[in-house]
Amino acid sequence: MRARYYILLALAALAMLGCGGKTTHTTTEMARPAFSGDSAYSYVVKQLDFGARVPGTEAHDSCVQWLTAQLERFGAEVEVQEGVMLDYAGEKQRVRNIVARIGEDSLAKRILLCAHFDSRPWCDEDEEAAWYQPVPAANDGAGGVAVLLEVARQISLMTNDKRRTTGVDIVLFDCEDMGTPSFLKEIDRQDTWCLGSQLWARDASLRGRYEWGILLDMIGAPGATFFREYYSEQMASPYVQKVWKSAAELGYEHIFRNEQAGAIIDDHYYVGQALNLPIIDIIHLDEHTGTFPRWWHTQQDDIQQIDRATLQAVGEVVMSQL
Ligand SMILES: [Zn+2]
Repeated sequence: MRARYYILLALAALAMLGCGGKTTHTTTEMARPAFSGDSAYSYVVKQLDFGARVPGTEAHDSCVQWLTAQLERFGAEVEVQEGVMLDYAGEKQRVRNIVARIGEDSLAKRILLCAHFDSRPWCDEDEEAAWYQPVPAANDGAGGVAVLLEVARQISLMTNDKRRTTGVDIVLFDCEDMGTPSFLKEIDRQDTWCLGSQLWARDASLRGRYEWGILLDMIGAPGATFFREYYSEQMASPYVQKVWKSAAELGYEHIFRNEQAGAIIDDHYYVGQALNLPIIDIIHLDEHTGTFPRWWHTQQDDIQQIDRATLQAVGEVVMSQL
């Protein structure tokens, strides 16, 4: 994800509660939702095993097939939405979004859960020697997808009565990370990021389908911190409040920080604008710098940047919304 920071309102340096391992302190009034951080972790490893999921590569193809099969295995109705968008150089780029529908369309209430699954083709935030290497994208891609796969698995294990009330669509966006490489200063096209969500959100028939939505982006790191992102507050403040409150009730207030953060152009921005949908972005910002973590868009975004406990926390918070 590329950061277009406008305002970093306030990032009070909070005394960090050490919480690398399992959460022992529970301030929960809420029953802890079923979720397996270990299972989600295994889904990250599986995606990395394909190699960098750069659009147009064999690794990307294999990952599309595997994700489709996994979601179908968990009982979802899956469609791969194909399309073409123009990339940062004005070239045609094939886009394949993976759309999984869980629960009959007739259900009164439906939530959108989404994440991007593609890997960035360039490590443009790394040393120059690595610029033309793809990002392994363990966290910036695979982590969010892994949590949503585990959510689909947990829903498939739910008893019928719970499943009948809320429908869930899981959309895995393609070509989120194809934006103009930072080393190509001369090119300044607009909207070169999030090509998959821009394509998907053009479908007017989606308007009114969802009550609200959650985007997961860079959500698996050890010591991860999420702040209340500006556009999420603009588009969906009551839902930001709802999610942050659930996180606190589950004992994760040290991860879901009750602080405002800047504006980030991410998939939620295009989906929210096009569908007039309240949708929030849960995304990692470094608590000290207010920017993306050091490993962002570098070769270091590998399995070292994934922590089972963080996947567990995010998974429980998302499950608590269903
Ligand atoms: Zn990225």
